[in-house]
Amino acid sequence: MTTPSTPPASPSSSNSSASSPLAESPQSTGGWFGALGLTLLAVVLAVVIVIGVRATLLYEGRRAVLDHAREANHRAALLTAHVVERDIAACMRAPDGVGKADAMSRCLAQFEQRPDGKGERSDIDAGYFPRLFAGVVAGSHDTVSLLGPDGSVLASTDLQQRGTHPARSAAAAGATSADDVDGDFLYVWQPLTDLPLHIEIRSAKREIFADWRDRAFWVAGLTAALGAGCAVLATLLGRQRRRRKLAEAALQRMASTDPLTGLANRRTLDEAYDREWRRAQREHAPLSLLFIDVDHFKTFNDRYGHPAGDEALVAVSHAISRSIRRPGDVAGRYGGEEFMVILPRTDPCGARDVAERVRVAVRAAAIEHDGSQHGHVTVSIGVAGTGPIPSGTPDLLLQAADEALYSAKSGGRDRVTIHPTYGGVPCPAI
Ligand code: GH3
Ligand code: MG
Ligand code: MG
Repeated sequence: MTTPSTPPASPSSSNSSASSPLAESPQSTGGWFGALGLTLLAVVLAVVIVIGVRATLLYEGRRAVLDHAREANHRAALLTAHVVERDIAACMRAPDGVGKADAMSRCLAQFEQRPDGKGERSDIDAGYFPRLFAGVVAGSHDTVSLLGPDGSVLASTDLQQRGTHPARSAAAAGATSADDVDGDFLYVWQPLTDLPLHIEIRSAKREIFADWRDRAFWVAGLTAALGAGCAVLATLLGRQRRRRKLAEAALQRMASTDPLTGLANRRTLDEAYDREWRRAQREHAPLSLLFIDVDHFKTFNDRYGHPAGDEALVAVSHAISRSIRRPGDVAGRYGGEEFMVILPRTDPCGARDVAERVRVAVRAAAIEHDGSQHGHVTVSIGVAGTGPIPSGTPDLLLQAADEALYSAKSGGRDRVTIHPTYGGVPCPAI
């Protein structure tokens, strides 16, 4: 085996999976879900803010429309009250020798509309109130009424308005404006100065808000379209980002794994070894290596063909993967029919145990090999490891593992050999 160089440390995690060392880490997966989540969150926030601002503006606009209508109706009611009060006062001045209340009733009766012709005989135009009130309001559903002291309707532009109404008792109680119970109408009342009467203007809110409703409809529609557009954009963006990340991850996997066996490739092994060596130094932890070589593989290829040889290598790689258990262990194809396993925080005796598991697992795969004295494919394994504080250099440890492998070969193959210097302490029997 040739000695690997020691390239700069890889920033990737040491917890690479043993069988697929470059499978995407949960951390990086969380990273791109996080980034995606942030984009979506930003879009949702922006849409919520826009909707919130729009809704507030619409609400404020609605209030302003109502305030404006109330103010306009108050002005109209005040004007009407002046005119009515002046005309009733003129009527009451007629010298008929009755009291003020009777004079007012008589005058009101004269003013009041009598569409059926059954009213009292009147010197004054019976269409006085309807004509006066008709020009006061703008809305086609607005009504102007004259209320008596108890809130009952004495005269109105709408004949159906005669009689008392729950909202009108508020006028008698001194209120100047109110909504009706259903909130469909806005009432405005103006008391006459000297007489216990009120002018009432009632406006339908449907009419007050007609323009506002049209505007709100368009604003809400455009805002909803904007929100939907943003949601679609964010979804497309997220999908595109996810695809790119998946493609990148796949590329990275391809660049770091051996295409035949799926184990780490040589480059990844070199990076992992450098990283683990420095970690072992830092943490004062042992570090061990296995060099695994398939026995008599040239003969195998010659006898069974290259494709069968490839299949055998895959079977050996599976046996290796199954035999290493810790998440920090890294197995890779070093080249040809040679494999390497890096065992962090493992002393040479522990490494010997792992090596034995690999050797037995390859035998158990029972891949026929006529050219071997064992009748099936076997491996020889060299083991080298450091003590608690790794001494020497990474290259020396690699060289030691290589020498141990050479000893295993010359000792008869299908065996595990520990290097005498790097792990020479006798290990307990397995
Ligand atoms: P030893 O027991 O001493 O290791 O003998 P060996 O025949 O295994 O060793 P040698 O180095 O002489 O031959 C290694 C062979 O491994 C040579 C080559 O044909 C074969 N080999 C290397 N890479 C591949 C591969 O990817 N696929 C296949 N099928 N064979 C490979
Ligand atoms: Mg070899
Ligand atoms: Mg070989």
